[in-house]
Amino acid sequence: QQDWEARFRLPHLTDIFPDAPPIPSTFCLKMRTPIDRDFPGHYSSDEEWHGYINNNDRVLLKTIYYSSPTSAGAECIDPDCTWVEQWVHRAGPREKIYYKPEEVKAAIVTCGGLCPGLNDVIRQIVITLEIYGVNNIVGIPFGYRGFSDRELTELRLSRKVVQNIHLSGGSLLGVSRGGPGVSDIVDSLQERGINMLFVLGGNGTHAGANAIHHECCKRGLKVSVIGVPKTIDNDILLMDKTFGFDTAVEEAQRAINSAYIEAHSAYHGIGVVKLMGRSSGFIAMQASLSSGQVDICLIPEVPFNFHGPHGVLGHLKFLLETKGSAVVCVAEGAGQNLLQKTNARDASGNVVFGDIGVYIQQETKKYFKEIGVHADVKYIDPTYMIRAIRANASDGILCTVLGQNAVHGAFAGYSGITVGLCNTHYAYFPIPEVISHPRLVDPNSRMWHRCLTSTGQPDFI
Ligand code: ATP
Ligand code: MG
Repeated sequence: QQDWEARFRLPHLTDIFPDAPPIPSTFCLKMRTPIDRDFPGHYSSDEEWHGYINNNDRVLLKTIYYSSPTSAGAECIDPDCTWVEQWVHRAGPREKIYYKPEEVKAAIVTCGGLCPGLNDVIRQIVITLEIYGVNNIVGIPFGYRGFSDRELTELRLSRKVVQNIHLSGGSLLGVSRGGPGVSDIVDSLQERGINMLFVLGGNGTHAGANAIHHECCKRGLKVSVIGVPKTIDNDILLMDKTFGFDTAVEEAQRAINSAYIEAHSAYHGIGVVKLMGRSSGFIAMQASLSSGQVDICLIPEVPFNFHGPHGVLGHLKFLLETKGSAVVCVAEGAGQNLLQKTNARDASGNVVFGDIGVYIQQETKKYFKEIGVHADVKYIDPTYMIRAIRANASDGILCTVLGQNAVHGAFAGYSGITVGLCNTHYAYFPIPEVISHPRLVDPNSRMWHRCLTSTGQPDFI
């Protein structure tokens, strides 16, 4: 338990500045006192209901009590932890804050690839900062690169500038991979007088954010670095879902539906759809489940044979014989063992994957030609179309609350933290806890088995 306390303790400015004086919050919670006195849990009239979050509030990680190990199944991950002991810190506005709004210069930066909802988060951070009374807000153009490239000038942000940006996809600020080292970024923060930095990005960006936080501590700078996890793959530990994921699944369904129509309308048609998911197959699994049109779902977490009697090709032959057509949905990171390894890396140092979609298309064509069976194989890769669209309603709400809570976290004096949805509640996490490794689809989980039930595919081993 002590270990858990220590692991999930949120780094705070008072760690380096023990005498930093808190001031009353400038964030006005426009909430009314509940008037229904008969409602259980009402607040008595002499007890003021201010709605601020207490630093000791917690969100429990496990909400199910498993009465037997068999019913827990795959969820029984850590036999040493009982369910009540795992919790995270509740996000939200605090009554005492650690920055005078007139002394704040806040910056927002978006890094990595595009993801639906980036503009929604930027917009809400700006609006919330203004509600606290901050007027000096800037956007750093094109990711971390914007800190070092002299030709890129910071963009002044205000409610007026961001008012309608959520109506389109992409990022108002632009994104990039690679860029300057942590020390150069912190030099730039000092030079520009930035003392709140909001970082929107994936695991790489968060590793950067954590390093920036540590460098600021080392230099004795009063800076709050707050992350907002941007990963369309939904591969961040402990979080119910990350923004953009819901939109991606919805849009992926459209691609699957097109593949189905194409396959179904052709004689012996096979539709192959490649979806995002470098190490985690959540998008492929959820899109397969929601569309109901997928016969074979392939994800990075579950190895499969492609050739051979129990492989994917054999099952495709069976599907053509019995159904007349088939749809395959594959995550980009699946079956990488089948492809020729290259040593290519992108600007951020991530390994560049081989194209499993093209491989499946080519090998399928070759196989059916060899066995003398007609097959019409069509391949759809909707990745860039999905990444660039605007957030749907559910992601729009998620982005809004994450943006607000990022600002509350900075004013509360935290740094080196990130914000996310946990068991339907919003929570703050120390960055290292959520990026130590990607969250994966558990092949023994109920959800993966529901997916298999829905596709009707065999094990391919
Ligand atoms: P995506 O989900 O789109 O891949 P990401 O945040 O993981 O998002 P990356 O391109 O890997 O995207 O990294 C984004 C930025 O973070 C880059 O500018 C990169 O230089 C920086 N970065 C990546 N890894 C680290 C690290 N370990 N330490 C410091 N900075 C890092
Ligand atoms: Mg990444």
